[in-house]
Amino acid sequence: MSVSDKFTNAIREVVGADWVQSNESSLSSYSQDALGIGSLPDLVVIPGSTKEIASIARFCNQEGIPLVVRGGGTGYTGGAVPTHGGVLLSMERFNRILEIDEASLLAVVEPNVITVDLRSEAEQVGLYYPPDPSSLANSALGGNVAECAGGPSAFKYGTTKRYVLGLEAVLPTGEIIHTGSKAVKNVVGYDLTQLLVGSEGTLAIITKIILRLIPKPTAQRSLVAFFRSVPEAVQAVTSLISLRIVPAAIELVDNASLKAVRNYLGSSPVPSSVDTILIIEVDGMLAEVEESILITADTMTAAGATQVVQASNEVEREKIWTARRQLSPALKATGLLKINHDVVVPRGKIPELFEIIERLRQKYELFISCFGHAGDGNIHVNIMVDRSNQNEKKNASAAVRDLFVGVVSLEGSISGEHGIGFQKSTHLGIELGPSEISLMKRIKVAFDPLGILNPGKIFPE
Ligand SMILES: Cc1cc2nc3c(=O)[nH]c(=O)nc-3n(C[C@H](O)[C@H](O)[C@H](O)COP(=O)(O)OP(=O)(O)OC[C@H]3O[C@@H](n4cnc5c(N)ncnc54)[C@H](O)[C@@H]3O)c2cc1C
Repeated sequence: MSVSDKFTNAIREVVGADWVQSNESSLSSYSQDALGIGSLPDLVVIPGSTKEIASIARFCNQEGIPLVVRGGGTGYTGGAVPTHGGVLLSMERFNRILEIDEASLLAVVEPNVITVDLRSEAEQVGLYYPPDPSSLANSALGGNVAECAGGPSAFKYGTTKRYVLGLEAVLPTGEIIHTGSKAVKNVVGYDLTQLLVGSEGTLAIITKIILRLIPKPTAQRSLVAFFRSVPEAVQAVTSLISLRIVPAAIELVDNASLKAVRNYLGSSPVPSSVDTILIIEVDGMLAEVEESILITADTMTAAGATQVVQASNEVEREKIWTARRQLSPALKATGLLKINHDVVVPRGKIPELFEIIERLRQKYELFISCFGHAGDGNIHVNIMVDRSNQNEKKNASAAVRDLFVGVVSLEGSISGEHGIGFQKSTHLGIELGPSEISLMKRIKVAFDPLGILNPGKIFPE
């Protein structure tokens, strides 16, 4: 794909020449996301208003030029990669928090506000925006909405979709639409807001977001519990939930991941005899939190934890979270290619999921590290591969397919957080039947008749 001078000049007229880039270094810097597999756009355009985006969309639609939206570029499935060239629309100038309405408990933001910035701003006035993807220091709220991002707190607070009340968006045809409203209840027509949540930039370009906020929990307490095996740890979570305790986070880290952290840090945040850890955080009002953390500690011990360490202050809390936070850098430091999949199963079936993973380790002789959100069954399975070893790469592809088939057989899903992008598109049929895929494609055509918006994503080509 290449764009004509006439087209480039028309776009320059719309946004101003400074906001259109076509030199090699900028094309290259917008070619990848965190998946690490890139493809160059023909033009990078950095619009400054919704009207400008509407004009750009209209031009692209008239000329049949692919249009790919980019937020923070932290996606893990290649969603923001311009696989078919064309225009890369970077939303970086849409970075303002427009309103925090304390009376109505909501915020109105432009899509490229960084997630952590909204959280901090809301906290200034005692409010809370719960979705907490680990990438929150770099990912943008528009990207979070387009991927329906989640994080450790999803078990208690839900994922991004729970917080999106309304959107302003531009259709690929150039129409500007408004969905939902500032009210928390809205049953007028089809729920276009939730249709756009998780649509991975394939249906519309999000230009404004109305987000629900909640009162900030006033207290939080954390603990870490050591276990001899994954099933023992999962059973401990089941016991806790049966007591109707709902922690803000329940993170599980398996033996292979702990080993990677030990190698990376050169020391161990937990004794080397520990197989699996659970990091649990409770939050709420102080009295309730104090009681819940004691019950949680007792439950862990009764369920077989060899040790339970409670944080009594912020420094100790930070120390507890170190092993979890060091996981991504520790795996990166191995120098191996990290094939990261965010599968999710009903929480009670996590032990079966780990049985499947153990079988894959043995069958394909692969190093597989697992960690994730034990509260909602969303486990990150990281298949670590030597880039130069073709046989290992082939085995990893086969293992991914077996993993997805296994997850679906457990009534789970092949993606809980990261979406499909182009990385998983060939696996879509493992989870969805022909009728569902065909219906989704008809929805895509209704929004994007000529298929210019983020082509090559979600659906296998
Ligand atoms: C270290 C690390 C940790 C991570 N941890 C988590 C985690 O805990 N939970 C989780 O859910 N994800 C996680 N991710 C994945 C990623 O951060 C999320 O998917 C995030 O929501 C992507 O946001 P972004 O702004 O970077 O989007 P991008 O990567 O820029 O784009 C992602 C998709 O959204 C579309 N998009 C972006 N902006 C818009 C817009 N304005 N309108 C329409 N479509 C748009 C793009 O076209 C693309 O398809 C992690 C990633 C990294 C690198």
